[in-house]
Amino acid sequence: MNILVVLESNNGALHRLSREALVGAQELGDSIFALIIGNENEEILSELAGYELEKVITVKHHLLSSYSADGYSEVVRQVFISFSPDLIVIGHTYQTRDFIPRVSAKLDIPFIPDVISISDKGFIKQVLNAKLNATISNLDNAAIISFQSAAFNEEQLKLGSCSNESFDVSLVDSDIKSISEEPFQEEEGDVDLESAEVLVSVGRGIEKEENVTLAFELAKVINAEVSASRPVVDSGWVDSFRQVGSSGSNVAPKLYFSLGISGAIQHVVGMKGAKNIMAINKDADAPIFEISDYAVIGDVLEIVPKLIESLEQSK
Ligand SMILES: Cc1cc2nc3c(=O)[nH]c(=O)nc-3n(C[C@H](O)[C@H](O)[C@H](O)COP(=O)(O)OP(=O)(O)OC[C@H]3O[C@@H](n4cnc5c(N)ncnc54)[C@H](O)[C@@H]3O)c2cc1C
Repeated sequence: MNILVVLESNNGALHRLSREALVGAQELGDSIFALIIGNENEEILSELAGYELEKVITVKHHLLSSYSADGYSEVVRQVFISFSPDLIVIGHTYQTRDFIPRVSAKLDIPFIPDVISISDKGFIKQVLNAKLNATISNLDNAAIISFQSAAFNEEQLKLGSCSNESFDVSLVDSDIKSISEEPFQEEEGDVDLESAEVLVSVGRGIEKEENVTLAFELAKVINAEVSASRPVVDSGWVDSFRQVGSSGSNVAPKLYFSLGISGAIQHVVGMKGAKNIMAINKDADAPIFEISDYAVIGDVLEIVPKLIESLEQSK
């Protein structure tokens, strides 16, 4: 299967979700073409040179000096027509949501967004507020698939080598009808949970607002960010941008430290990509333990202060 992976630059570096999309593509197909659009992608190109890919396609043009949905969708359309891949694969980022529906419309091929995994039967997507998984199979013609954050582990990218080809895109001023604003950034003081390497995540088991400071203290000692389950956010104990789950962020830290979180499916879908999960819960049957690497059965209000103290002493 020939796959075209459309990559994204994150301030000049390869976006994490693009790496994950490359892993998904490597699992799916044997011939991977990676497309990188824009004029300042040297760092990305040197990274890509070390991956097992058929080809890296670069597209530069003075009308692509900054992102626009019109320009990028037109590039993908032209590259698709030239290379005729069986599938377009991309990470499910803000930018993807902005321009890929246009690619789908221009090429008249389906866009299947937010896929969480692949099986031998097809592409798996969550439906009905993540209560059910649906498998989409029998795609007769080409399609576009976007992968949800943490659907694949970037560390599983196969290393190798690839060749480069520059693609001459045909663009004129009138193709670009919209001007994009600055890319979305977290506000100053907000945190980017999706990029955090260590998260201390607080759930309703913390019992009351005053106790949330324990999570912040622990996070400070282990150099982590604080995230939360929905009830903690709904109670106004932490800001909404810290919510993890189906109606919050999808995170994939190296360590997810869960304090008093039950492990409801709507929460788990947002953090199941964590490389290591350590959970404290006083209920031995809490569902969070089913996916935890380390389980501590006990009271967070007793354990966390002692943990903070001993971590501080060992500094
Ligand atoms: C449409 C929809 C979208 C949703 N989206 C999200 C979402 O994005 N994110 C999300 O998190 N939820 C979401 N939810 C809510 C979700 O279903 C759960 O209700 C929620 O995740 C539960 O949060 P919790 O684990 O903190 O609380 P609870 O389920 O109340 O669990 C608290 C846990 O703490 C333990 N505990 C209590 N006291 C202590 C203690 N002293 N020490 C140790 N452990 C203790 C308990 O044993 C329990 O397991 C959504 C629900 C719906 C319907």
